[in-house]
This record gives sequence, structure tokens and C-alpha cells, in this order.
Amino acid sequence: MDLHIHSTYSDGDAIIDEITRRARERGMKIIGIADHSTDHPRGLNEKKAKRRRVEIMNAQERYGIRILDAVECGILEDGKIILPEHEFDLVIASVHTHLPVREVYRRIKMCILKNDVDIIGHMHAGMFSFNSNIPELDMEIIDFAIENGVAIEVNSYHSSPPESFLKLCSSKKLLYSFGSDAHDLSMVGDIDFSIRMAKIYLKKGRNIVDEMHNTYR
Ligand SMILES: [Zn+2]
Ligand SMILES: [Zn+2]
Repeated sequence: MDLHIHSTYSDGDAIIDEITRRARERGMKIIGIADHSTDHPRGLNEKKAKRRRVEIMNAQERYGIRILDAVECGILEDGKIILPEHEFDLVIASVHTHLPVREVYRRIKMCILKNDVDIIGHMHAGMFSFNSNIPELDMEIIDFAIENGVAIEVNSYHSSPPESFLKLCSSKKLLYSFGSDAHDLSMVGDIDFSIRMAKIYLKKGRNIVDEMHNTYR
């Protein structure tokens, strides 16, 4: 499964039909087309989300794999996210701005608290140097995510979160998700890092796809 793929509906290069074909070739049974939300200049609005839904349904039928109608929102000031009026299957929220370390943690916490999000995307990536993460605050986010039923994404493109973070997860019943963050066809289903990290550190955790199993059977 690869729940983090961008299409031409935001800043990706590939169309949904070819993404789905490629995902099936790579053995994926479930994918998420997670285009950027309205906070991104090329992101989804209500009209685009509606059109995209039709393409998702068509591709799903053509290739016989489950496609989630997903979105990736930026986490803005005070943990806010912006979503178009649309019924998404999956909401990923990620920090996309360079910020002081503590502000990143604060925004993520507020975001989990204030919004109905499913996944926190690429923690630590591009936000601050991997060495500057703060273990106590990492731990707080982990516990907070578990308490609120929010998954942490293991993102293969960004190699995120760093192993120091994942190590803290080993004894926890963390909900997690896999994503390639593909912006072109060659990256679709590229989740080797995610699988490797989950095998080492997330044995006690639970994959969000299993959690959704009943809903998406
Ligand atoms: Zn992102
Ligand atoms: Zn992304």
C-alpha cells in the first residue's frame, strides 16, 4: 500500500489512470491519491476534488485495486488546515514551512487536537535538521497521536521520521501509514524504506489500512 501519491490534480506529473496501472504492476492493493489541499497554489478546490473523484472511481474499476480519495493539507498557524468542501476518505496533514523546532511540534499537536485528520505526514522532513529533533517532544507527539487515533506516516521519499523517532515507537501501539510521496510515475509504490522501518520498529503498531479494513473491504 502506498497512501501518499500526488497526481496532476496538484503538483504531480502523472494522471490517475497511469498511477493506478503502475501501482498494480508494483503489487499494490490499496493506494491513496493524496493531492495537496487548497493551501497549495496548485492544490485541490471543490470542483477539482469532484472531478478527481470520478477519475478515481473509473481507475478503481478498470484496474481492480482500492483507491482512497485522499488529500494532503499543510499544517498552518495554530494547527489549522484548509480543506475544500468534499468527502475525503483520508486526510493527511503535514508541515510544509521551515519553522523553529518547537513551533513544528506545537503545530502538529494543535493539528491533532483541533482537526479530524487521519495521518501526520513526513514528520521532521524538511522542517528542521534530523539531529535537532527533541526526544521528549517526539514522545509527546507519539502518545498524543495514539490517544487521538491518528497515524504517523513512514514516508519513503523523505526517509521520515528519523530512526531516533521510530526507536521511541518500538514499545508503542502506534498507528502508522506508508507513503512514497510520489510526484512522478517512477516513484509510485516506492515504499521500501517504510516497510523496512516498520519491520524493525513498528512491530507493536498497527497499519492504518488494517484499521480501516472493515470500512474499505
Ligand atoms: Zn508534504
Ligand atoms: Zn506529499
